[in-house]
Amino acid sequence: MSRSAHPAGPRHADVLPEGHYTAPPTDLNALDSKVWAQTVTRTTDGVVSVGDIDVKKLAEEFGTPAYFIDEADFRARARAWRTAFGEDADVFYAGKAFLSRAVVRWLHEEGLNLDVCSGGELTTALSAGMPADRIAFHGNNKSTEEITEAISRGVGRIVLDSFQEIVRVAHIAQSLGKRQRVQIRVTVGVEAHTHEFIATAHEDQKFGIGLADGQAAEAVRRALALDGLELIGIHSHIGSQIFDMAGFEVAARRVVKLLAEIRDEHGVELPEIDLGGGLGIAYTSEDDPSEPHEIAKALHEIVTRECESAKLRTPRISVEPGRAIVGPTAFTLYEVGTIKPLDGLRTYVSVDGGMSDNIRTALYDAEYTVSLVSRVSEAEPMLVRVVGKHCESGDIVVRDAFLPADVAPGDLIAVPATGAYCRSMASNYNHALRPPVVAVRDGEARVIVRRETEEDLLRLDVG
Ligand SMILES: *Cc1c(COP(=O)(O)O)cnc(C)c1O
Repeated sequence: MSRSAHPAGPRHADVLPEGHYTAPPTDLNALDSKVWAQTVTRTTDGVVSVGDIDVKKLAEEFGTPAYFIDEADFRARARAWRTAFGEDADVFYAGKAFLSRAVVRWLHEEGLNLDVCSGGELTTALSAGMPADRIAFHGNNKSTEEITEAISRGVGRIVLDSFQEIVRVAHIAQSLGKRQRVQIRVTVGVEAHTHEFIATAHEDQKFGIGLADGQAAEAVRRALALDGLELIGIHSHIGSQIFDMAGFEVAARRVVKLLAEIRDEHGVELPEIDLGGGLGIAYTSEDDPSEPHEIAKALHEIVTRECESAKLRTPRISVEPGRAIVGPTAFTLYEVGTIKPLDGLRTYVSVDGGMSDNIRTALYDAEYTVSLVSRVSEAEPMLVRVVGKHCESGDIVVRDAFLPADVAPGDLIAVPATGAYCRSMASNYNHALRPPVVAVRDGEARVIVRRETEEDLLRLDVG
């Protein structure tokens, strides 16, 4: 359970039983549009392309492994969220999923706001011109320096995560002569992952202040009493890779109940409610995520209904999708290096990256698919495990998938849906050089985060 509570991962119990795998797809050359970015297609010569550039050219120019992000798709998804939620709601992109200055500019241009949860993310956002008042600052242990920087730069809101932080933020704001807009993050006793949610989850996690035992009401009391704070709302984030809206339904009901209690006790109706992120994407063809307009409609209805029955004005809603925007827009391109067939079991296909560019499989038993992208093949399907080049047997990129049996060293293979929590969680394990992120759009490719070099490694190692 502790692992599954991590905001970036799916429910641990999603792991397929040992030896289980789904049947091979009927056509190994087909690209399921559910898992691939919008402009990904196979050209007439059988090579896969994105943004009108084929992957062989991309590999030649940028090397492998590399992440390729479909800029048009990213913008379209951001816009779809923005449009679906409309003018009386705010969409905060969760920067931790993947953040770079280009991405910040795209978000800004498409009218989205931005969540950050560290000084580094804040600096990235500000340096790319995101207006401070459209930034929300999260985290369960923000440093004094981070809080000071956030307040003096004028961030739109700080999400308070603990009793200590209520006092800390109020004190720093006051000493800067400011009144900081804040929300209080509560844990509503709901834990949602994929197709299941638990309405009576233990609030046994590091984030937020518990609702059940009156702690949240006490936090509100304290925040309202402090001059340095302007309490604008309540925040709740219930899980990750969620497909079922029932968890949000229970969370919203509990948050609205708190809003009603606040009105009854203090005579104030807090104007905002933030329902967090966590909406699921298709990593494999088995997953069926909802569209942003369906999610927006469901959330609006839930909040409106609950507020009507509590006789409250409907607050302004915010949501914080990270994965649902960036996840499907990128794939990782690898070159096959070695192949190890184990008769009757599976074939290990080793690529030139691994757990340093995608830790999610090792960390959360996340599922991915893989395709041969440098050519088509009519060979029989072969059960494979795609593994990296790290000194670790848990270095698995794709646990169970099918590739054509004639896959060979030098072939390019790609893993789709790696836009979220792959580059942002990448490491230098074994002194791997973290791959670049290349944005592709309308026949043009542009590095937005360059590949690390050995000089980068040695620069930090002062000898
Ligand atoms: C991680 C996180 C998100 C984004 O989660 P996704 O699963 O990427 O949508 C949003 N809000 C908060 C507070 C988070 O911690």
